[in-house]
Parts: sequence; structure tokens; C-alpha cells
Amino acid sequence: MSSANAPLVTRDLAHVWHPCTQMKDHERLPPIPIRRGSGAWLEDYAGRRYLDAVSSWWVNLFGHANPRINAAVRAQLEQLEQVILAGFTHEPVIALSEELVALAPTGLSRCFYADNGSSAVEVAVKMSFHYWRNVGRPGKRRFITLSNSYHGETLGALAVGDVELYKEIYRPLLMDVITVPSPDCYQRAAGVSWAGHSRAQFAHMESALERHAHEAAAVIVEPLVQCAGGMRMYDPVYLSLLRAACDRHAVHLIADEIAVGFGRTGTFFACEQAGIRPDFMCLSKGLTGGYLPLSTVMTTEPIYAAFYDEYVKLNAFLHSHSFTGNPLACAAARASLAIFREDGTLERNHALAAHLGARARELEDHPHVAEVRQRGMIVAIEMVRDKASRAPYPWAERRGLAVYAHALERGVLLRPVGDVVYFMPPYVVTPEEIDLMVDVAREGLELATCA
Ligand code: PMP
Repeated sequence: MSSANAPLVTRDLAHVWHPCTQMKDHERLPPIPIRRGSGAWLEDYAGRRYLDAVSSWWVNLFGHANPRINAAVRAQLEQLEQVILAGFTHEPVIALSEELVALAPTGLSRCFYADNGSSAVEVAVKMSFHYWRNVGRPGKRRFITLSNSYHGETLGALAVGDVELYKEIYRPLLMDVITVPSPDCYQRAAGVSWAGHSRAQFAHMESALERHAHEAAAVIVEPLVQCAGGMRMYDPVYLSLLRAACDRHAVHLIADEIAVGFGRTGTFFACEQAGIRPDFMCLSKGLTGGYLPLSTVMTTEPIYAAFYDEYVKLNAFLHSHSFTGNPLACAAARASLAIFREDGTLERNHALAAHLGARARELEDHPHVAEVRQRGMIVAIEMVRDKASRAPYPWAERRGLAVYAHALERGVLLRPVGDVVYFMPPYVVTPEEIDLMVDVAREGLELATCA
């Protein structure tokens, strides 16, 4: 470890308990103190730079310390940093809501704010349950989810997710959900198309809806990409079928676009690729360009109307968080949306995504790569022990961690999910930076799979 980083690492390890981390790992790989960021790069106290190939946990869109977002946050800071959103309001949250409604699938006209992704999922789950109660169907109280899905870490969000590593220990604390096999196309048989596999997998959902519609409040999905579940992807046809089936069975559809929204999959929202409108759409992460914590749940007029009543009926949605709709976060979000409009980000991303995909697919021939898959600005490489059978490495060997450690040595922040090495860069990444990311991932794969 460089001497300039050492004092901060010592102080950090004395008091900071890091997220999603076995702290003992830091004996071997100490945390890296970051002094500043610029564009797609982070810089530590020793002046070493790291290319942020994972957008700092999938949040950053337009680079670190983006001058336009900085200016918007600074201007807002001079006016108002925070105000209670119950009984009071402010222009940034009003204008942001107008802009989001204009961008979202038609009919999502109401925005309920929270301050992180998991809380948005809690809001959607509670609202759906509460809606059915308000309209006189209190028996509709269960949730249907996909295997391998992820929706956050708070107890409700954890319950409707299905990543064993995060969920198993807490199972006694979690509500019981109905879990349906995922349309994940990594599982498709040889020769079957993504659309064919996704369509076939829908039979499981159809039968779950048939059996459980009377007691189901909502189905929750990550549209197109199950990110924390290893960047597993599926075809938009699944979402079209799901929308139609939810309508037929009178079950809500919750689209968790927390990771895939804001251009990640090639369209502004992933749901657009299926031409559907969910009943609830959860947004966070890229909502503020990755600047500040903020989330929102967008929903429809009929759902809003089911809560609109005399106070004494006690039908209102009395959920709140202190920092709900924080003005600084809303200002960052508006600046980020302005960049999309002014810079033609989605078109620019098509060229970047094509380059990223072409370079990453060079790894398809690697003897320990089972698949390279892509959806827009998300590319994932499935590292396996045996290419023919797709047998994974034993998880305890932590091969992905070896890729992570190598990439850091080479100045790239890659953070594989298990043995899935992936790229989810900020949209300001250049083709040359993409080349560096892919080259370093290839080296990391060679090293991680050689023994
Ligand atoms: N849903 C999805 C699809 C996510 O990827 C995440 C975060 N990785 C969350 C919910 C939870 O968001 P947060 O970490 O802000 O609570």
C-alpha cells in the first residue's frame, strides 16, 4: 500500500464498517481512500488513478465531479439544502416530477419520493398491498418474484429478492413470497433464441398467476437484466407477456428500474423495449446522475385515487423518510436529465455500447468463458471452470476476487459479481478507456483461471 494512503486506511479500519464486505478481507486488500474523481476516473491519495468501470455501484452516469451537475447542486445549495416534504414543497421536486412524468411510460403520472433504492421497493410493495386493501380486496397481500432477482437489502426488499448469499441468513425475518423460475437466457438450451427461451419460461409465471392471483398483490421484476444476480439477461417479450397476464389476473406489475433505468439498457427505461407501462416503477441510482441519494416510485392515477379520501377513513399512504425528495438531490437529478436532452446521450451510447460489446466478445473464445452477453451499456462475461459443461468454479475459490485484485493493480475498478466479470461504465467513457477495461479484464481472467 502506498504511504500516502496508509494513514487513512489505518483510521478507516479503526472505525468504518464497510458495506457488503467481510472486513477480514481488508487484511489482504485494504480499502482504497479516494481523494477526488474526474470523469470516469477516481484518484487515491498517492495519485494513483482507477477507471470506474462499474460507475461506483451502477450509479454514476456522466462522470465524477461533472461540472454541469456540480454547478446545479452548488446553485441549489445557496438557496435551500433540505425541507420537510410533508405540508411543504419546493421547485426542484415539482420540476423533477414534471420531467419524470414526461419521460416515463404514459400513465405514470404520480411520483412518491424516498432516498434510496431499497426504500423505493418498500414503498412500491406497501403501496400495492395497501391499494388492494383500500379497494376492498385485503386478501391480495402476497408478492410474486423471479428466481435470482435482487431488489435491495431492507427486510421487505430482501424478501422479494432471491439472491441466496444476501437472503438466506435473514429468512426467518422475511415475509413469504412466491418465487417463479427466471427467464434468464444463460439457462437456455443450445440453439434456442433469447426470445424463445424467455417466452417458454413465461409458462411458469402464467401458472403462478393462475394459482395465486386471488391472493397476489403484485409481481416484481428487474426489467431485462437481473443485475446483482450476475447480470443475467432476458428478452423483452417476457415483459410484454407479463404485462398482459397481470392485467388479465388483476395483479400489479412493479418494475424495479433502479439499476436499469436512465439509459443503461439502450432505451431511457428498460420497459420501453417491451412497450409496457408498469403499475409501479422504482427509480434510484442514476436518477441523480449518481450524485446524491434519491429514489422515487412512479405510479398511475387510478392507484393514487384509491388513497385519495377523507382523512378519517385512514386510507392515506402514511409512509415517510426524513430526506424524502431532498432539494439538492432533485437539483442533481434535473441537471442529469438536462445532459440527456442536450447531449443526445442515448444516441452517443449506441456507438459506445457497440464498441464495448465488440471488444468484450473477443473473450468469447477464452477456454474459461461460457458466455459474453450484452444489453446496451451492460456487458457481462461468465467465467466458468469448464466451458463445455458450463460447470462453475467452486464459489469459495473466489476467482472473481482475483480479477478484482488484478484490475486494481492495473488501475481499473472492476468488481465482479461472483465469477461474472462485467462492465457498466459511466456514459462519459471513451473508446480508449473501454479498450483498457477490456484488456485488463482479459488479463484478470487469464490470471484467475490459470491455476
Ligand atoms: N433494486 C435493484 C435492481 C438494485 O440493483 C439495487 C441496488 N443494487 C436496489 C434495488 C437497492 O438499491 P439501494 O442499494 O439504493 O438500496
